[in-house]
Amino acid sequence: MKVLVINAGSSSLKYQLMDPETREVLAKGLCERIGIDGRLTHKIPAKDAKYEFEIPMPTHAEAIQSVLDALLSSEHGVIKSASEIDAVGHRVVHGGEKFASSVLITADVMAALEECIPLAPLHNPANITGIQACEKVMPGVPMVAVFDTAFHQTMPAKSYIYALPYEYYEKDKVRRYGFHGTSHRYVSARAAAMLGKPMEELKIITCHLGNGSSVAAVDCGKSVDTSMGFTPLAGLPMGTRSGDLDAGILEYLMNKYGYDMKEMMNILNKKSGVLGISGVSSDFRDIESAAEGGNQQAAMALDAFRYGVKKLIGAYAAAMGGVDAIVFTAGVGENDARTRMAAASGLEFMGVKMDAEANNVRGKETVISAPDSRVKVLLIPTDEELMIAMDTAAIVNG
Ligand code: AMP
Repeated sequence: MKVLVINAGSSSLKYQLMDPETREVLAKGLCERIGIDGRLTHKIPAKDAKYEFEIPMPTHAEAIQSVLDALLSSEHGVIKSASEIDAVGHRVVHGGEKFASSVLITADVMAALEECIPLAPLHNPANITGIQACEKVMPGVPMVAVFDTAFHQTMPAKSYIYALPYEYYEKDKVRRYGFHGTSHRYVSARAAAMLGKPMEELKIITCHLGNGSSVAAVDCGKSVDTSMGFTPLAGLPMGTRSGDLDAGILEYLMNKYGYDMKEMMNILNKKSGVLGISGVSSDFRDIESAAEGGNQQAAMALDAFRYGVKKLIGAYAAAMGGVDAIVFTAGVGENDARTRMAAASGLEFMGVKMDAEANNVRGKETVISAPDSRVKVLLIPTDEELMIAMDTAAIVNG
């Protein structure tokens, strides 16, 4: 079976054509500058080949068409006919309270996705546009929506309710939703497989640490708490996002500097996080080299981030009444041994003992805790595309 996985943004679109059974990625790539001019980067992993094209992409429909043309090309294609694509899996950021799992896309589902737009005004419209473009270019091919929020719909009310007047939840759906759900679900399932135990017997803390970061408490296979909230702005300090802060700060700064809400949100989303503290970069590699060179603010940014992860690990172990495994994933979690070590050290009191040598590794599934650590600490590269392809195959095959 071949599944085309689509992750549509407002002016970009990532794709992967893969076989969810063999897990082989036949081709993958990226359309950029949609609505501006249009650029396609197309890769064939088996040949280690990369192709770049300038193709006009006034809308997402031309972008999808260019992806299809690349997949079918006699020179750099990987399939002979469009009918070889059995299904399309779409990443959708927000499913609100309506979607607790992936779904086959129907007219009713599209209407429900439209209703979720106010919850993710930047992301959901682009996801919907991607779906509509595929419907236009590949009519009749079954499509599945896989939501970033769905995995966290199992959170109990005590985890998701904000201490605001209840009407804002009832009327306006203001609550914690959580994001990165596809990644937390994938790595928690892989952790159970690595430990050779059923999910139903495990308490796992999954740390998705990338440009955006979130931590989740996964008890018996179900998300019971997570650090992102109503929006992906909450929780840990991130590359450029502030993470949690005292809402009183907004009023203070807005009054003092005359910012309107748009300017304030731009600061919180784009100028804060480890970039804001360090003043150096949003990229952990740059911040680490600055810290090594003696930059105190860079060192402070790293400390604040790592301390934030450690606090969440402690909180979620308390929330679940214990922890069997801690997983690190995503760009920072998979590559940055020092961040993993700092976040998971000093936790011997709760049975976590890191192994410095085992932790000196990047980007592969492995155990990084000491052999006598009661809590296993694991490095597991995330694969959201594979999870989307697997969900799509499972739903389409009934
Ligand atoms: P992601 O959002 O999961 O793609 O993660 C991207 C982030 O991972 C980058 O912005 C970097 O901060 C971080 N990253 C990637 N490679 C490394 C590395 N070798 N060491 C530290 N951080 C890294």
